[in-house]
Amino acid sequence: MIIECNYCEAKVDAKILAQHEEVDPQDEFRYKISFVECPACKRSLIGCQEFVQISSEKWEWDDATRVWPDPKKYLDWSIPGPVQAAIEEANLCYKSKAYNACAVMCGRALECICSEYKTKEKALHGGLKELLKKGIIDKKIFEWSDALRLHRNIGAHATEEKISREDSRDLLDFTNAICDYVFVLSKKFDAFMKRRKK
Ligand SMILES: [Zn+2]
Repeated sequence: MIIECNYCEAKVDAKILAQHEEVDPQDEFRYKISFVECPACKRSLIGCQEFVQISSEKWEWDDATRVWPDPKKYLDWSIPGPVQAAIEEANLCYKSKAYNACAVMCGRALECICSEYKTKEKALHGGLKELLKKGIIDKKIFEWSDALRLHRNIGAHATEEKISREDSRDLLDFTNAICDYVFVLSKKFDAFMKRRKK
């Protein structure tokens, strides 16, 4: 079974150790869960496949999605499209070991947040300051964003300095956390407080 091994960072033809098929009682969707072994690093992985219709009479199992360990993170629908696109591209850069490009795309996600809130300042530093002033981000998130901005500059400019794999991973995590704070958790908290008031 073809699955992406997160240890080898490659698609591998894994050996199936155990499999279980089930049907969702609500929507009658068929799933297949597979417990597999990576042929290269010998570590275990768990994949999930869905039975999908490919033509009027033909159904097939789709490609396995790894659900353990380190499952693919799905971005919350409340994160605006341009921000999501920048994060997706940053993830792709990280996967292809393009760490400078990853830092640049994380910076782009921040720029998209600024344009979402229509900041007047064109430069990112000023835009972030405006978000802080408006109370959209707090001081801690501003510090994270500003550190991210400086790394974006390292990634974007023709200097000797390079972004390491470890830093690139952290930048991605910060970007996700900033987006969760700005778009997901803040809205959730507002809705929660509204319910309390009723
Ligand atoms: Zn492996």
